Amino acid sequence: MSEFATVDLIRIKRDGGTLSPAQIDWLISGYTAGRVAEEQMSALAMAIYFQGLDDGELSAWTNAIIASGERLDFRGLSRPTADKHSTGGVGDKITLPLAPLVAACGVAVPQLSGRGLGHTGGTLDKLEAIPGWRAELSTAQMTAQLEDVGAVICAAGAGLAPADRKLYALRDVTATIEAIPLIASSIMGKKIAEGTGALVLDVKTGTGAFMKTLSHARLLAETMVELGKAAGVTTVALITDMDTPLGRTAGNALEVAEAVEVLAGGGPADVVELTLALAVEMLGAAGVDADPERALKSGAAMDVWRRMICAQGGDPHAPLPVARHQHTLTAPYSGAITRIDALGIGQAAWRLGAGRARKEDPVQAAAGIHLHVDVGTQVHAGQPLLTLHTDNPERVALAQDVAEAAVEISEHAHPHRHRLILDRIF
Ligand code: URA
Repeated sequence: MSEFATVDLIRIKRDGGTLSPAQIDWLISGYTAGRVAEEQMSALAMAIYFQGLDDGELSAWTNAIIASGERLDFRGLSRPTADKHSTGGVGDKITLPLAPLVAACGVAVPQLSGRGLGHTGGTLDKLEAIPGWRAELSTAQMTAQLEDVGAVICAAGAGLAPADRKLYALRDVTATIEAIPLIASSIMGKKIAEGTGALVLDVKTGTGAFMKTLSHARLLAETMVELGKAAGVTTVALITDMDTPLGRTAGNALEVAEAVEVLAGGGPADVVELTLALAVEMLGAAGVDADPERALKSGAAMDVWRRMICAQGGDPHAPLPVARHQHTLTAPYSGAITRIDALGIGQAAWRLGAGRARKEDPVQAAAGIHLHVDVGTQVHAGQPLLTLHTDNPERVALAQDVAEAAVEISEHAHPHRHRLILDRIF
């Protein structure tokens, strides 16, 4: 491999020039191996934040992330594979009912997930609320579970895209997370390395999402879909609303309980709608003709859920943890709910202990928020709006103001909820 001077490559990007694939390979492999210094990669990430990456650079950057570690391969399984990735939102528990539902329809779901940081929850944190459930599986265990049960949700091993692990931590502390080429290559590098045959992206937009505007969400979705296709992975994206939290819960055990309600044939309408829409996309992308609505109603998806939880040491029948303190906020006056702000609800759940500030922090399994109303609900003064759950009573005061401010009531307006699915990119 040719040798370059890192400082020259930073200068090229800073001045709006183009890096060659060989230069990008050299940078990413050198950074992963510790030969490119943290301060130099920080400067380069900031240069990319301002100057962007062109298509050729983006493709080389993503390939270098994939090549930094192992690449899984599930082509030996007896059924096709499809995975879903959400860019993260408040109350987004969709993976929990979706993975077993798609598996019940004949497509294997190899879902490598993460833990939450900030106001959006992580799928592994949610599942860890189930007594006994464990996130760490070897590749051999994952493959065996995919063949036997059809769905696995587990932690990505340290060998998968190690360059991204290091880069993401660096971007987190250098204000360079919000760069579309860096987000797209980070997500797609991991998903392509994961070895799925098809991928459906749920790109969130709104106050509770990374992408605050529809146009940014569209650009991110288009960039990721192109990267997936170029790597031979059938990739489709839905752009979905995250101005309002999904469902009526935000917090780990509370969200598991809501996901189980969906698998039992109930649950909030928006969670059911998005689960079914993503299932249709995953089945279509994997080339399987099946009816997910029937698999949900018949209990077939619930059967796979129970087997999936048991296979990872969990007890699907065990009671979920309940918070030691609960505090209900009520409507100060009568009117219609005009807004439930996703960011405010996410921040309040985080303050109650459902999320973490640093990646080493523990989370409270039972902490979070249960909403009793939807946008459009007519309420009367004194009616319960939401209940705060936490193990530490002192956290109620920290969360209460933010939670109250997140719910808007109007005496005059007659609102209806925005559309949930805003666009489809393929
Ligand atoms: N999620 C990722 O995995 N990477 C990013 O850069 C942003 C969100």
